Amino acid sequence: MTTDPAATSPALDALRFCPDCGKATINWNDIAGSASCNSCPWQGSIKDLLSQPVAAEEANNLSTLARQDFVRDVVGAFTPAVMRWLLKWGFVFAGKHLRADSLRIIKAGSNAFYEAVLKERQAIASEQQQ
Ligand SMILES: [Zn+2]
Repeated sequence: MTTDPAATSPALDALRFCPDCGKATINWNDIAGSASCNSCPWQGSIKDLLSQPVAAEEANNLSTLARQDFVRDVVGAFTPAVMRWLLKWGFVFAGKHLRADSLRIIKAGSNAFYEAVLKERQAIASEQQQ
């Protein structure tokens, strides 16, 4: 796997979020370096997106693709509701760190949810073999 960010698709080296609304519903064009959000009017450069790097060894794993698909489609859909909930119950505070803190918590929660999916799927499969 190459480590040159310019030579890899954003989908394969990092998880990307809209810098305006925080959703993962991003379209991008690798060649032009441009990006836009499907959830708000934001348009800009790929480098303006909020991103969470994906570990190189993990990027070679097939489950990474399913995880990225989960983050883009599912997490993008619930991110605004979770951000409201985090703020309402005092897990994050209004101010300049609101979006970054919220996205950090949402990413950790998303990873935990995805791990739970894999673990429960394995448990279901082993129960059904008996
Ligand atoms: Zn947006």
